[in-house]
Amino acid sequence: MKIKSAEFVVSNSEVEKCPKNNLPEYAFIGRSNVGKSSLINMLTDRKSLAKTSGRPGKTQLINHFIINDTWYLVDLPGYGYARVSKSSKKKFQKFITNYFEQRQQLVSAFVLVDIRHKPQPIDLEFMQYLGESGIPFAIIFTKADKLKPKAIENYVEDYCEGLLQTWEELPPYFVTSSSKKIGQEDVLNFIGSTNDEIEQLRAE
Ligand code: GDP
Repeated sequence: MKIKSAEFVVSNSEVEKCPKNNLPEYAFIGRSNVGKSSLINMLTDRKSLAKTSGRPGKTQLINHFIINDTWYLVDLPGYGYARVSKSSKKKFQKFITNYFEQRQQLVSAFVLVDIRHKPQPIDLEFMQYLGESGIPFAIIFTKADKLKPKAIENYVEDYCEGLLQTWEELPPYFVTSSSKKIGQEDVLNFIGSTNDEIEQLRAE
């Protein structure tokens, strides 16, 4: 898929106020500082569509972007920021679960994982939650430029082996680097072919 247009639509703190039409939607989420904003900018060929955050935990909103006038890219707040209070963590959980459980247009989540860190319980718990809620997801490994090819291979292999301890099947996964522009085509083609499948199903 080629990016022809990418525009900011709206930011919300409530799922009820998200765009009302039925375009397929893909939500990006991960721990603060995982490289989500950089990835969104890399995928969409824009310098600052998503604001790269100097202050993690500040952007507590659901941000909708419309891509090629045909699908929504959703930038969700980063989770697991150590310095937020317990009450705001609770509020965050409610806000995110409302989004995932109520948003009918959501086709797939992308859970971002920083390839430099060993598997983090918070990411694994979040994937567990998605699985239990019946929400399809894919994993995007970020910052692959930080490792050599062999180390990437080993990391992904170990990560998948870990997942197979609890999952029967592996989710789709992608290795990316925003600074080296790795993985753009793979992720966009995945979204493109999923959109085609949805269109076919809707036409039947
Ligand atoms: P967010 O908080 O998840 O939106 O993360 P940002 O996109 O703001 O990035 C967090 C930090 O990771 C920044 O210092 C980025 O420069 C850095 N970063 C993001 N993507 C990459 C990448 O692909 N490679 C490397 N080496 N650093 C990255």
